[in-house]
This record gives sequence, structure tokens and C-alpha cells, in this order.
Amino acid sequence: MSGVWVLGERREQTLELLNAGLGLARELGTTVTAFAIQDQGLAKTYIECGADTVYLLGSLAPEQPLEDYVPVIVDVARQKNPDIFLISATPRGKEMAARIAARLGVGLGSECTRLRLDENKSLVMERLMFGGAAVQTVVCLTRPQMATIPPRTFEPAVPLANREGEIIELPAPPAGKVRVLERKPRVQESVDITEARVVVAIGRGVEKQEDIELIQELANVAGGELGCTRPIAEELHWLPENRYLGISGQKIKPDLYIGVGVSGQIQHISGIRDAKVICAINKDENAPIFEAADYGIVGDLYAVVPQLTRELQRVLKK
Ligand SMILES: Cc1cc2nc3c(=O)[nH]c(=O)nc-3n(C[C@H](O)[C@H](O)[C@H](O)COP(=O)(O)OP(=O)(O)OC[C@H]3O[C@@H](n4cnc5c(N)ncnc54)[C@H](O)[C@@H]3O)c2cc1C
Repeated sequence: MSGVWVLGERREQTLELLNAGLGLARELGTTVTAFAIQDQGLAKTYIECGADTVYLLGSLAPEQPLEDYVPVIVDVARQKNPDIFLISATPRGKEMAARIAARLGVGLGSECTRLRLDENKSLVMERLMFGGAAVQTVVCLTRPQMATIPPRTFEPAVPLANREGEIIELPAPPAGKVRVLERKPRVQESVDITEARVVVAIGRGVEKQEDIELIQELANVAGGELGCTRPIAEELHWLPENRYLGISGQKIKPDLYIGVGVSGQIQHISGIRDAKVICAINKDENAPIFEAADYGIVGDLYAVVPQLTRELQRVLKK
């Protein structure tokens, strides 16, 4: 067996998986291996951040999709027999993970949000079900034990002192059956709400579209971005759909989330529950959002928000 392997689509995701992998490897008394896609510099970074070995995947031709790496990765996995293989749950990552697991004939826990080892040193994967209302615990009996992990589930690994490791170059994969005919940048807002450190979300408690200005001011003062509940984006079309948060919308992990006039139904909460601090402003003291909130203000948002904005301005000026 050759330890814990991690494969992220991008640098940040690989570092997050490395962090998770390092914890597991420490408990198992084994090594960590990462994959770097076409970039020697990245391979060095992963070693600095804890990887013992990095497989450097050879360059793809422009018409080759990332999935063409699957046979190369499967070949090396068959030779080395990793104990655990973690892959980022990005659309491409999930596609690759499923193909790798199928070729290796092993199970795969998808979108796992917690990982631990049981008394037999088997990987116990936890994943949310029913919009976050339940947690499913999965143990795969096959090896490697494979899991996909949503981005930002773990903090990224940081550089460690005096790190040394091995970089092993893997051949560029031959072209598979799928060819990329054209690549077009997705037309989207410049703001990526999943990257914001502060998110102020509006719900149906906001009466009119013009009133969003009030909440925008609070977001500006707090250095944050506006998010919303699904009805605000899908039914009222007051904000773009990539701003709504929840099980069918964006999943965020900011330092601070403030829900304004948001009831806090489970479908919304499952997208924001990983915020470090959750605040809620709602005039109904029994609103479910208060159960998820670290801080709650029971009151009319039209009175509370301007007051909070002023107070924040005053405090931040100091
Ligand atoms: C399959 C499915 C998937 C879904 N996915 C999502 C999802 O991903 N994201 C999502 O957000 N929703 C999702 N929903 C919808 C979800 O169930 C809720 O209906 C929605 O989140 C409620 O939005 P809201 O909180 O804005 O509105 P409401 O539930 O109507 O809540 C409005 C709140 O505002 C408060 N309020 C009213 N006036 C004021 C005031 N003046 N001051 C302060 N508070 C006030 C009220 O007390 C109330 O709590 C989904 C639903 C289904 C069925």
C-alpha cells in the first residue's frame, strides 16, 4: 500500500486535500502523494506543503479533456495500491473520480464533508443527505478507499520547514474518445460569491427590489458581497442566479454570513452552514435561521439594517 493520494483540479483544491490527507497519513503512519497537472512549480509547492511524492502529469494537447488523464492515473494506482484516494468534488474532479473508481473496481464516497479513521484504520466518510437534514456515514470495503471532497471543506495546507520529496513525471496521456472542439469563457459576473469572505444574504423579508440598496450599503461597509435565497433570484429575479445560496445554489464558506429577512429553511442553510460566523436579522423570533445562527437580532430589518450599517461604519473608522 502506498499511503494517501490527493488529486485536485486546481492548486487551491489540491492544497485543501493535502491538508486532509496529511492528517489521515499521520494517523496511518504513511506517506502522502499528490498529482500536479502540467506544472513543475506546483509540484514543488505540494512538496513544500507536505507531499512526499508528486506525480507530475504530462501536458495535454489543446483538444484533450482533463479526463484523458484517467488511464494514466489508473495505471499508476494499480502499480502502487494507495490506501486512500481523495479527489476534489469539482465537476471535472467528480467525472474523473467516478471513472477511476470504476476502472479500479472500488467504491467511491461522493461529496464527503468529514473524514476520519475507525478502529480498523478504515476511512469513515461523512456526507450530507436530504439537503443537510441528515448525515450519512460510509465505509468502503475496497481499496483504495476513494472520496470526493467539495472545495473549501478543509483549510489549505501551508508550507512546512525543510521539506523534501520526489517528483515523478508521468507520460502525457494518449488522446481518448472525446475531443474538445472549442473552448469559450463562460459569460458570468465578475464576482464569485464563493470566494467572498463576508456575504450578506437577502431573503423575502425584503419587500421591494429598491430596498436591496439598504442591504448593499451594509455589505459595502462590511467589505462583503450580496447573496440571496432562491426565491429572490429564481422567482423575483432581483439578483442573478449565481448569487443564491443553498442546496441547489452556491455553497459558501465565508468568515461571516449575515442573513437579512431570510427564514432559514434547510435548503438555504445547507449552503451557508460552513460560514465561520452566522448572523441573522429576522422579525420573527421563531424563524428557523436563529437555530443555525451564532448571533441573532430579532427586529424589523428596515430599522435594524441602517442602525447596524451606521454602527459598523463608526467602529471601522476608529
Ligand atoms: C427542492 C428545493 C430546493 C431548494 N433549494 C433552495 C436553495 O438552494 N436555496 C434557497 O435559499 N432556497 C431553496 N429552496 C427554497 C426554500 O425551501 C425556501 O422556500 C426559501 O429559502 C425561503 O426563502 P426566504 O427565506 O427568502 O423566504 P421566506 O421563507 O418567505 O422568509 C422570509 C423571512 O423574512 C422575515 N421577515 C419578513 N419581513 C421582515 C422584516 N421587515 N424584517 C425582518 N425579517 C422579516 C420573515 O419572518 C421570514 O422568516 C428550495 C426549495 C426546494 C423545494
